Amino acid sequence: MNIEEIRKEFPILHQQVNGKPLVYFDNAATSQKPQSVIDALTHYYNTDNANIHRGIHTLAERSTTAFENTRKAVAKFLNSREVEEIIFTKGTTEGINLVAATFGRKFIKDGDEIIISALEHHSNIVPWQILCEENGCTLKVIPVNDKGELLMDEYDKLLSDKTKLVSVNYISNALGTINPVKEIIDKAHKVGAKVLIDAAQAAPHATLDVQALDCDFLAFSAHKVYGPTGVGALYGKRDLLEAMPPYQGGGEMIKDVSFSGTTYNDIPYKFEAGTPNIGEVIALKAALDFVNELGLENIAAYEHELLEYANELLADVDGFIPVGTADNKASVISFLIEGVHPFDLGQILDAKGIAVRTGHHCAQPLMERFQIEGTVRASFSVYNTKEEIKYFVEALKAAIKMFK
Ligand SMILES: *Cc1c(COP(=O)(O)O)cnc(C)c1O
Repeated sequence: MNIEEIRKEFPILHQQVNGKPLVYFDNAATSQKPQSVIDALTHYYNTDNANIHRGIHTLAERSTTAFENTRKAVAKFLNSREVEEIIFTKGTTEGINLVAATFGRKFIKDGDEIIISALEHHSNIVPWQILCEENGCTLKVIPVNDKGELLMDEYDKLLSDKTKLVSVNYISNALGTINPVKEIIDKAHKVGAKVLIDAAQAAPHATLDVQALDCDFLAFSAHKVYGPTGVGALYGKRDLLEAMPPYQGGGEMIKDVSFSGTTYNDIPYKFEAGTPNIGEVIALKAALDFVNELGLENIAAYEHELLEYANELLADVDGFIPVGTADNKASVISFLIEGVHPFDLGQILDAKGIAVRTGHHCAQPLMERFQIEGTVRASFSVYNTKEEIKYFVEALKAAIKMFK
């Protein structure tokens, strides 16, 4: 892969921040967007903008076709059996909330159990807590070891015929741990539970195949995979989606409305009430095209090279404490520096043009597990370089000197 050529496609990277060239290492929070995605958005608003599905005029036809083409692209990206199994959402958070509010409310009852993991993002904790409060079901948590890996023996002990749903992330945003999701799914199915995969971090770094995984639901966000904000997709198996009640009521999700009763539309439209983020959905296709052109396996291999290079250089940094050292890891480095507050480090790095994230990374229970308030997190993407990592490590060393 020619990284210099790839970098040219991302206009935002070519700027100075605080007088220094921007080094963007906050990719686990959101990725930058290639020109093709930005162009798809402006093209839509410049030439095709019209509401979808109901119009017969030319612009409505164009926008509807482009919108539905993204659905086909997402189905291909996830290898879903059917295009109708793809529902557009605002993002991963909404996808999970949708499943909690529909599948959860209908099929999970008092006395039932839901299993999540200690590695979850708040988006995959709170919707289940809300459901448990409402329904009287119980939330169980798979613990992690000191490396930030799930304790699969403990998972085995949590599973029972009370388990109705297992909801875990594929890759942890806070530590980068890649979880054994296939094993998690197979074991859940053996006790008759359904499985939701939070693929927010997996979509940009791992090849997803919902048929091979055999997951029941999978959610991801466009903005973490080079696409626009405000859009994501939820995959669900057809029979489950058909058995679930609608999420919100409104336009598009109905077949017929009368005051004596309303019949709902077929999937996926049953779950897509109201005018969606049309332009952003259309631009998501350009993001997936970008990923497909490079190949996710090539992207992941290059990012792994960056991770190893960073680990090598960081091992040499005074007081460096990695948080999360799983054997199987994506390109995320969470760490602390002895005697320096993460927030202070973040500020000093920012003054040198380096964007990292500091804090709990929306995973407070996980931070509690490690008895810390937060970490500094550097997360790499395909447009990052070894030169940037070198510059980052030097800046880190200089910052540490200031505190000694
Ligand atoms: C970012 C993230 C989410 C939430 O995604 P949104 O785009 O904010 O809805 C959920 N889970 C993981 C693992 C994430 O990284």
